[in-house]
Amino acid sequence: MQQITCSALIKHGSYINGSWQQHDNRFDVVNPSNQQLLAKIASADAADAEQAVLAADQAFAGWSAKPAAERSALLQAWYQLIMQHQDDLARLLTLEQGKPLSEAKGEIGYGAAYIQWFAEEAKRLYGDTIPAPSNDKRIIVQRQPVGVVAAITPWNFPNAMIARKAAAALAAGCTFVVKPAQQTPLSALALAELAHQAGIPPGVFNVVAGTDAKGIGEVLTRHAAVAKFSFTGSTAVGKQLLKQCADGVKRVSMELGGNAPFIVFDDADLDAAVQGLMAAKFRNAGQTCVCANRILVQRSVYQAFADKLAIAMTQLNVADGLTDGSQIGPLIDDKAVAKVTQLQQSALDGGAKLLLGGSRHSTGRQFFQPTLISDVNADMAISKEEIFGPVAALMAFDTEQQAIALANNTEYGLAAYFYSRDIGRVFRVAQALQFGMVGINEGIISNAAAPFGGVKQSGYGREGSKYGLDDYTDIKYLCLGGL
Ligand code: ADP
Repeated sequence: MQQITCSALIKHGSYINGSWQQHDNRFDVVNPSNQQLLAKIASADAADAEQAVLAADQAFAGWSAKPAAERSALLQAWYQLIMQHQDDLARLLTLEQGKPLSEAKGEIGYGAAYIQWFAEEAKRLYGDTIPAPSNDKRIIVQRQPVGVVAAITPWNFPNAMIARKAAAALAAGCTFVVKPAQQTPLSALALAELAHQAGIPPGVFNVVAGTDAKGIGEVLTRHAAVAKFSFTGSTAVGKQLLKQCADGVKRVSMELGGNAPFIVFDDADLDAAVQGLMAAKFRNAGQTCVCANRILVQRSVYQAFADKLAIAMTQLNVADGLTDGSQIGPLIDDKAVAKVTQLQQSALDGGAKLLLGGSRHSTGRQFFQPTLISDVNADMAISKEEIFGPVAALMAFDTEQQAIALANNTEYGLAAYFYSRDIGRVFRVAQALQFGMVGINEGIISNAAAPFGGVKQSGYGREGSKYGLDDYTDIKYLCLGGL
């Protein structure tokens, strides 16, 4: 923690109604690279979550009444401060999450870009006038902020998952309460400190950090003052939270798991496909919901592609995220290592072949070797579940129809990728893939200008882009009569 130059960014308790909470009950934040203790954080509980919701409720009238230009200016100020502290925020993120510093820096810029984007969109919350069926009426449509937004976010993007929800919510005029993942509260609290410095009023942005996810989650999904709930995390937890939200008919956005296919057709530029796959597979050591999970390669180019991929993977630098040139950091915890090991082993037991890697890496107990497996099939657990680790699993296919059927053979529908230079095929396959986002000859698809989100059991709602405000606004129809 001595590596953080601005000590004001290091906070040890939740940020509720503009103040920092203290508690005797504390939890540890640990560096996944070396298991060293980074900080002890005051553990907020359900009562604190309720206090945060009430603060957000109180702040709503004032915040939503501010002219859009004022909300926009405050978001801009927050954005500027984040960018000024990009290096420190990135180091903090790497310390608690493990990803390579270059990626952490990228995440801070990526998260901040949503704040900048929605600072601009705040001024464009347009309504409509609609031709009425008779001349004595006018139909006017306005968009209004839904109210208090509660959110729960995961550890794999400790900054950006909060930034992209909060930015849209605040821009629309909503107030916001977030529970970050227990593993990565420091990035969330640092964001709160900068929101404070930017002059965002008390109660508008609150962070509730604690270990009682269930208890805090109950408040955030059931409290009468919460109008909308937004979640990014696993499908299993998302389904549970969705049920809790149903009782109060809360508005809900769910960004859940994925099982991204990455298809390489025989007409693809294989070098470009390898490059795209390296980005889509190994970012964050494979721990993203849009990571390539099933790599489908047309049989005639299968061997050539596997050879090129193996060469690229051999060059990956596995090291502590703060080490210069690190490309693969640790997995988040021992459980993650165990899951990756088990998925890989069951694939090998089922007849898959190990081409590279296959075990823990000597750097430390939570590091896993970049691993390449071939001859995987659709029945293996590794094809059905999110791997969430640096394991690339190759499967061969023969025809375009077969590739599409294999790709869609999942309950998930977040991201898909494919490589082809045949224009007809590009349009056919893009149309047929049942996913919310499709990378075509591209392995990195997410940015603030684009709508991020899934279909099927990957959830609903979109984050970023001009559509991103929709999740945080209600449409109000005014019928003006007697004219
Ligand atoms: P992951 O497997 O990536 O950790 P989870 O869905 O378990 O994904 O976690 C995502 C977020 O959901 C985290 O902030 C976690 O604390 C929270 N969470 C986990 N279980 C619950 C629950 N029962 N109620 C509310 N929040 C939960």
